Amino acid sequence: MPAFSYDETNAVVLRDSFFRLDPIARLGFLVHELTHLADVGRRISKSKEWADLIHPRIRKIREMLGAPGTGADVPTGSAAKEIARANGLPSTYAATAAGEALAEIVAYHLIASSYEAPEPIRRFITAHELAHLAP
Ligand SMILES: [Zn+2]
Repeated sequence: MPAFSYDETNAVVLRDSFFRLDPIARLGFLVHELTHLADVGRRISKSKEWADLIHPRIRKIREMLGAPGTGADVPTGSAAKEIARANGLPSTYAATAAGEALAEIVAYHLIASSYEAPEPIRRFITAHELAHLAP
């Protein structure tokens, strides 16, 4: 991971590899990490409303990818990503945890023109003031 965050201290750590990324990728990682910081104590990503929206999608994607359960062991690659996209998530990494889904969705929704969050998710991130930069 080129970047990560500590929500206890609101610190975002940028590794050397971060600075070798193109500007759009860097922006995506920054928005992802800042979303984790905005999700203080996981108060958003652990909410029942988010769980109801995201857990069925995560479960379905992980089953389709042959990686049921939880954890970071999800396949990557373009075929796997297409399965994630077809079920409303921008990446397979978003299927690793509810908090990662929130950070990935906000980052891709704001930065990547190829991804648009499904309407109920878009409403959720807008209601939680995470989508204000979106058109
Ligand atoms: Zn993350």
